[in-house]
Amino acid sequence: MEFHVLTLFPEMVLDGLNTSILKRAIEKEQIKINAINIRDYTTDKHKKVDDYTYGGGAGMLMQAQPVYDAYCDVVNKRKKRDRVRVVYVTPQGKVFDQKMAEQFASEEDLVILCGHYEGIDERVLEEIVTDYVSIGDYVLTGGELPAMVMIDAIARLVPGVLNNDESASTESFAGNLLEYPQYSRPEEWNGKRVPEVLLSGNHKKIAEWRLEQSKIRTKERRPDLYEKYEKEEKEREAARRALKEEQKRLRRMGKI
Ligand code: SAM
Repeated sequence: MEFHVLTLFPEMVLDGLNTSILKRAIEKEQIKINAINIRDYTTDKHKKVDDYTYGGGAGMLMQAQPVYDAYCDVVNKRKKRDRVRVVYVTPQGKVFDQKMAEQFASEEDLVILCGHYEGIDERVLEEIVTDYVSIGDYVLTGGELPAMVMIDAIARLVPGVLNNDESASTESFAGNLLEYPQYSRPEEWNGKRVPEVLLSGNHKKIAEWRLEQSKIRTKERRPDLYEKYEKEEKEREAARRALKEEQKRLRRMGKI
């Protein structure tokens, strides 16, 4: 998967992501991070990329022209001609979550546009942006940290990036539950023992305990998420019941 980050601070994005698991993924070419400096595309002789806002008000705004030309360069360099998704990271967007990360992880290319100062001229946003995404209800100075947050969350869902394929599927938010508590050696630390069931070697019991702990934790810490879990669990249960009924009916008719 290739990320194309349109930014005024490419080194911030590249340096910030070139560590640990993502560094390994970049080296193995499982992901590619292409940071494009918007300033390289300005036609202003002083390399300016921002100007005052029409109508007055505090702060400067990134101009449309360099952003648009940087975007066109990315599009023109792509081999494929299909429409690429362009995310503008903005506090005015839909709040980023694991489901969105899963959706974006299925793209081959993803363009992420980072604003700075007061943001970006609306006209170029209208022209190129397909998704408006926020990383939370607070205002940052620039879009680079949000872009890095998104890339980290998305890249670890790209097949092969995590060593152990299991870890993404049992983690927090998978199935709308938070992950259960985990323990490592020693068996006793600071007077606290690891729960006995985890030492039992009984995998069925361990799985049951973990599910129960996930439910308790989610109910306590994220009641909103637990509500979603319960709703989907009810739907799954109804589907299971309907399937059983259908199987019974077909058996009675001698069809299976
Ligand atoms: N004037 C803008 C507004 O009120 O919506 C905020 C501009 S902010 C100071 C500068 C840039 O930081 C934005 O263009 C955006 O790219 C990025 N940014 C700030 N907070 C963000 C957030 N919570 N999520 C995603 N991007 C954010």
